[in-house]
Amino acid sequence: MLDKFGREIDYLRISVTGNCNLNCIYCTPDKSETSGANCRDYLTATEIGTVTAAMAKLGIKKVRITGGEPLLRPDLEEIIGNIATITGITEIAMTTNGIGLAERAEQLKSAGLKRVNISIDSLENDKFAWITGGGNLACVLKGIHSVVRTGLTPVHLNVVVIKGINDNEIDRFVELTRDNPVDVRFIELMPIGDFGRNYTDHVVFNRDIIAARPELQAVQDDSWKQPANYYRMSGYCGQIGFISPLSHKFCAFCNRIRLTCEGTLKPCLGDNQEIDLVPVLRHEPEKLEWYIQKAIFRKPASHHFEQSYVSKRNMAAIGG
Ligand code: SAM
Repeated sequence: MLDKFGREIDYLRISVTGNCNLNCIYCTPDKSETSGANCRDYLTATEIGTVTAAMAKLGIKKVRITGGEPLLRPDLEEIIGNIATITGITEIAMTTNGIGLAERAEQLKSAGLKRVNISIDSLENDKFAWITGGGNLACVLKGIHSVVRTGLTPVHLNVVVIKGINDNEIDRFVELTRDNPVDVRFIELMPIGDFGRNYTDHVVFNRDIIAARPELQAVQDDSWKQPANYYRMSGYCGQIGFISPLSHKFCAFCNRIRLTCEGTLKPCLGDNQEIDLVPVLRHEPEKLEWYIQKAIFRKPASHHFEQSYVSKRNMAAIGG
């Protein structure tokens, strides 16, 4: 369906849990939101299917499963399997930290998952552990190998670049695309959650990364319309993507809407407005489409990151 600015909304991102087995410095889960102690129950696999089916009737075609860490849901295969049966859904992708992925890649593919993005902010064991609050880099690398082997491709590796922390590894990440069938995507740190309050001290703008590397060749003509602008090094196997919500606003072409783990719809990542679907989902499911339509219609024209906006929720709860 179209929102009030004429944008076709056909992409749903679903956070299936606010919990995470990592504790990244820029995405530190707010315990009140994600521990389960003070938050409402997460949507069940059936409820996620019901909301997605209503969305599909309104024109959603592509779904991304995210979190929190989606692999923490023991019923993830059921969630994906339910979505895969919905008429109109043409692609199911997932964003994950990759821990425990190797053991489930085949089942997830059989359930209907098509492709995976894996977050990896450092290629150094100690630094990776420090950024992620104790994560094991070897487990993530094992997860990456497993999805390449299983054919959950193209694989995207997401790197949030943080000034003074991992910006000295940019060229090493670029080198990963020389012989490996993976795309590396550099993401600008967004002012979300506690770390985001001081984000200007930490953000590295993608335009500066690109300007410092004239050997990168742009590969798209319509890059100004896309969330990620792709480049490549001549002769390399994979591409380099730049996701630049701050230095390159693509709101005019935004096609997405988010379902949080607690069942609220978030029309824009950079705006605190949310519409609670749970009462209608549990008590008047026949009105679901009407509520979703209303929420999509209210999607703001653009995010407010550059206007001292700080998200009330961290990314884990929203679904990054
Ligand atoms: N646990 C999964 C993972 O690690 O990919 C999925 C959830 S995580 C919130 C999704 C993505 O959001 C990750 O790539 C993460 O790096 C990114 N992210 C989280 N907080 C962010 C922030 N403040 N700015 C930019 N990206 C952020």
